[in-house]
Amino acid sequence: MATEAYSIQRHRYDVLIIGAGGAGLRAALGLASKGLNVACISKVFPTRSHTVAAQGGIAAALGNMGEDDWRYHFYDTVKGGDWLGDQDAIEYMCREAIPAVIELEHFGVPFSRTEDGHIYQRPFGGHTIRHGEALAQRACAAADRTGHAILHTLYTQALKNHVEFFVEYFVTDLIRDPRTGELVGALAIDLKEGVVHFFQAHSIILATGGYGRAYFSCTSAHICTGDGGGMALRAGLALQDLEFVQFHPTGIYGSGCLITEGVRGEGGYLTNADGERFMERYAPHAKDLASRDVVSRAITIEIREGRGVGEHKDHVLLNLAHLGAEVLRERLPGISESARIFARVDVTKQPIPVLPTVHYCMGGIPTNIHGEVVQKVGEDNDAVIPGLFAIGEAACVSVHGANRLGTNSLLDLIVFGRAAALRCAEIIKPHTPYPELSEDVLEPALSRLDHLRHARGGTPTAQLRAKMQHAMQEDAAVFRTAETLEKGCQRLDELHAEFADVAVADSSLIWNSDLVETLELGNLLAQAVGTVHAAARRTETRGGHARDDYPERDDANWMKHTLVKVDANGQCDIDYRPVHQRPLDDEVEMVPPAKRVY
Ligand SMILES: Cc1cc2nc3c(=O)[nH]c(=O)nc-3n(C[C@H](O)[C@H](O)[C@H](O)COP(=O)(O)OP(=O)(O)OC[C@H]3O[C@@H](n4cnc5c(N)ncnc54)[C@H](O)[C@@H]3O)c2cc1C
Repeated sequence: MATEAYSIQRHRYDVLIIGAGGAGLRAALGLASKGLNVACISKVFPTRSHTVAAQGGIAAALGNMGEDDWRYHFYDTVKGGDWLGDQDAIEYMCREAIPAVIELEHFGVPFSRTEDGHIYQRPFGGHTIRHGEALAQRACAAADRTGHAILHTLYTQALKNHVEFFVEYFVTDLIRDPRTGELVGALAIDLKEGVVHFFQAHSIILATGGYGRAYFSCTSAHICTGDGGGMALRAGLALQDLEFVQFHPTGIYGSGCLITEGVRGEGGYLTNADGERFMERYAPHAKDLASRDVVSRAITIEIREGRGVGEHKDHVLLNLAHLGAEVLRERLPGISESARIFARVDVTKQPIPVLPTVHYCMGGIPTNIHGEVVQKVGEDNDAVIPGLFAIGEAACVSVHGANRLGTNSLLDLIVFGRAAALRCAEIIKPHTPYPELSEDVLEPALSRLDHLRHARGGTPTAQLRAKMQHAMQEDAAVFRTAETLEKGCQRLDELHAEFADVAVADSSLIWNSDLVETLELGNLLAQAVGTVHAAARRTETRGGHARDDYPERDDANWMKHTLVKVDANGQCDIDYRPVHQRPLDDEVEMVPPAKRVY
């Protein structure tokens, strides 16, 4: 038995949070301030989580810079998600946005200011007033470093409230009590000391971020490997809407580094090889500020039709020099620096070469508005899994539906991080005794760890990962067809099988990056397989899932969430659950499905 080979340190907490990005930290703060004892585990130092890279802003209809109303935000989000989002959850998020952002201000987030001292708000793609009549100024921004400002503030607040952090601990698996079937904790490796830890908790919150690294070119950090989704799949749970992956229109050509949509919010625009502002043809009203899927597709079509820029005619240009050096320095200092480093461009004089790049995973672990993980069980489409929560990009509430609007993710982190904390505080009574667990509860997780640690196959992890990333980039791209998706399914199935032959050269437990990357690859592969299979089934175009062979949205057959399980052999089991079309409050009118034009 693997258990014998490891000496294990045990901990007990009311709540275990896995992940210290914006979502994990907001939940941690909420729980600690309610007096619960909370452990927050992160594989990197908390302020290195991907949230730190968020640039453009966080949405809330504060109306600081002109007319706005949360109901417009609600409408825009339903439309932006192409009617796949759950309208009850969207209502909750847009309504709560206003107090949630003011609360952030009170926590100390250093937002940029208007002349009269209010939070500065900029326009962003797909955010409008009066149902598309004019652009809204809704994105609350701290220059172009909003995520940085929020993450640092939340971290210091969490420390102040005595959250216990376990930093540079890598969680490998959830632990299930075989006697009751309930999830009771998680297994982690302390990467510095090489010691294995078992955290037992009444509730576990997965806040592990997205799986953008399944693709070759993405704006996500190297740590965005979907570990929470991988753990959920191994625990036998279904993930939702994986086929919806967002391409951001403006990744820097070559590096994939993000140039925020805030640039276009401030007045930047795209041009093709003819110098034409081509977005005027695709989205006559919103132009460069149409939603991301629309702009990414427009760029892809321009390139396909030979109007791309450069030697290979394979990218377009983002123009911002006309904004003037002062605006660029004050409002967009971060992207000015990125453009200089990654594109060798001086933005006060030259345009930035850009290309659509994978940016966000709309799919994830399905939850209700309290962050509780839900599954379809028999006739019940929303059965709660006791003790398990998911928040942030790892989760799928679903507020973003088939396409997320910019600035709605930071909002999702804050609103549902807070909601999950409130729910835990409601259900966990102080001094609740912990169930006694049998010695062998850790056996499945330890065996898997032990197996990978000593894997001596013929395929290095990096080689397999590169193959997966290229397959995803080519076969599950901005535009998809039955042919590319079938090829993608075949390639990913083969790569999943090849994982059995993976080689880990180093078997130590201290700072073993080879082992960690292998564990991460296992998580990425399972979600990559789920993504292509779910995409191959969905024979329509909706939001981020654009099919050349099925160019229309098909509400009669496809206004439903995909649920996909991927077992240890890479076999997919696909099912569906209905979209919640009714808002929470009877007085709020649902947004009826309509054609999505900008
Ligand atoms: C470049 C960029 C710019 C963006 N700009 C914006 C923006 O302006 N506005 C907006 O709304 N959205 C933006 N987004 C999207 C948004 O930033 C992300 O969706 C969001 O920050 C994700 O936050 P999170 O808390 O869910 O996860 P993350 O911030 O990704 O954090 C995940 C956490 O989980 C931990 N973790 C993961 N796996 C493990 C494991 N196995 N063991 C232990 N710990 C683990 C990590 O250490 C980390 O602490 C941007 C995204 C990118 C990539």
